[in-house]
Amino acid sequence: MDKKEPLYKKIHTKLIEFANNHIYTASTSIKDRCFLFVLNLCILSILCVIPILLTCKQNYLAILFIFTDILYILQIILISRFKQHIDLFEKFTCIISEIIIVPVFLMSGGLYGGGLFFFINITCFSYLVLRGNFRRINLLLSIIITFVTVFLSILHPEYCLINGKTASPIISGFTNAISCLVCIFFFISIIAYQLYLHRKQEEQLEIARQEAEQANLAKSMFLANMSHEIRTPIGVVIGLSDMIQSEDDIAVVHDMATNINRTSGMLLNVINDILDFEKISKGKMEIVDAEYFTDALITDFRTLGAGRAESKGLQYNVSSSENMPKVLFGDEMRLRQIGTNIINNAIKYTETGTINVYVDYDTKREMLILSVKDTGKGIKEEDLPYIFDSFKRVDVKNNKHIEGTGLGLSITKKLTEAMGGNVSVTSEYGVGSTFIAEISHKIVTNPTITESNEHSKEYQLNDAKILYVDDTKINTIVFNGLLKNTGVNATYAFSGDEAIEKAKSDNYDIIFLDYVMPGMDGVETQKHLREMNIACPIIVITADAVNNAEKRFLDLGFDNYLSKPIQRNTLLDMIEKYMN
Ligand code: ADP
Repeated sequence: MDKKEPLYKKIHTKLIEFANNHIYTASTSIKDRCFLFVLNLCILSILCVIPILLTCKQNYLAILFIFTDILYILQIILISRFKQHIDLFEKFTCIISEIIIVPVFLMSGGLYGGGLFFFINITCFSYLVLRGNFRRINLLLSIIITFVTVFLSILHPEYCLINGKTASPIISGFTNAISCLVCIFFFISIIAYQLYLHRKQEEQLEIARQEAEQANLAKSMFLANMSHEIRTPIGVVIGLSDMIQSEDDIAVVHDMATNINRTSGMLLNVINDILDFEKISKGKMEIVDAEYFTDALITDFRTLGAGRAESKGLQYNVSSSENMPKVLFGDEMRLRQIGTNIINNAIKYTETGTINVYVDYDTKREMLILSVKDTGKGIKEEDLPYIFDSFKRVDVKNNKHIEGTGLGLSITKKLTEAMGGNVSVTSEYGVGSTFIAEISHKIVTNPTITESNEHSKEYQLNDAKILYVDDTKINTIVFNGLLKNTGVNATYAFSGDEAIEKAKSDNYDIIFLDYVMPGMDGVETQKHLREMNIACPIIVITADAVNNAEKRFLDLGFDNYLSKPIQRNTLLDMIEKYMN
């Protein structure tokens, strides 16, 4: 049976709670903590002394002590409301203590009582708590008050009485001894408390130092990792494109081009991860909810890993629950990003066996549940708490040959949380892992999107007449390639000036402007075009994907924004949008 908590313990707990909630804050300085501690000590000791004084019939002294205690308690209550004025309370306490000590000294027998010890207490306490000139003046005043009081007691011994009588040697000895003990107790408490605060501060400093060291180490590791992650695909791209130049066999060239494409995709993923991480860290990651077809999502998960799993000889299954709603409302793009991260990891860290992807929907909680189970390396129990940390790669020794930045899971976690969900993992080292992401997506019963819309890649762009302005020739070649077989009639300009000339002599349906160009940049060119009363949509093309770039460009007067590298479907969607 549980023992009932004794009353004094309950009071103690309540007092501590009150102090933590109302008096101290995390930022209370050591000096102020010391003051509050001593003030509490004073209240407690005075409360203990009052009954003794009353039983010894030292009524006047007891009344003075009661009055002092009320003042101190009132202060504590006021401090709990006006913490910011704690400096003022400190000064006030020192002053009233120095005033009250004079009658206490006289009423407790003067030089024959123990009052002199309390001068030491108060002077030292004031010195500890006060700062600056006030401290110096106060110290001087304390010394003067001590001497004046002592002289007064010598000149007028009739003032120094205990209950109207002069102190007998026995009483004098006892009061001196007790005052000395109180003084010792006070000092030991203050010093012990100061040491405790000092120790605590040192511990906090040590933790901060270790954290800073770890952050530094993580940063260095991250840079080394990034350098590797970026240089590897660039090396592949450079190598393969070199080889293509001297290759005649069209099938081999096609193969190499496919590899370049895949490797560039990997490189883009790394860069996107870094940018996303930056956005998330600054709290600028936007979640854009819209209706989407779950079938399309599941098909994408299927195609996403199939190729890579197959090339590693892994079995790759994607299935979904029978209750899966047809249309959901949520940020499909971010959901794909979460799925891509988890599925890519499963394939990356599995050498043999199976990857099972399962998509389910919990109607009650309105949560989409994505579970990815692999038969891979698994994660050691002691590493599990760290895998969602930024830049953290675990089991580095065994995973040395596997590429990674240590950002994927941290981004996944932050994204799921931003979407009102969470991600969890269970794993057995050497056996495999299961990652489960739960994301809050609502069911749409009356969808406004239509399936044909979603999948339609049949663009009707035959009459589109567009002007593409970019100073880099290779970009215009790529742009031209993206428009192949679409029927779009594209004209190219290589500077802002040339674009203006072309726009003067011809009418275009859409103008695409590169943002960074020598001479007149995209923004200036756009302004000139508008001054010429050119009303067609002007779309900016830029590699700037951070810091709210889209909103910034729209504010600058552009009709829309395309980020580099341009995806074919995004480009064609945009042309179609402005042609209809
Ligand atoms: P990385 O870029 O290193 O893959 P992540 O943030 O995606 O970074 O993952 C962090 C760490 O978690 C990885 O370095 C890896 O050790 C571990 N990990 C993630 N997914 C798996 C998995 N499916 N199987 C085993 N280990 C995994």
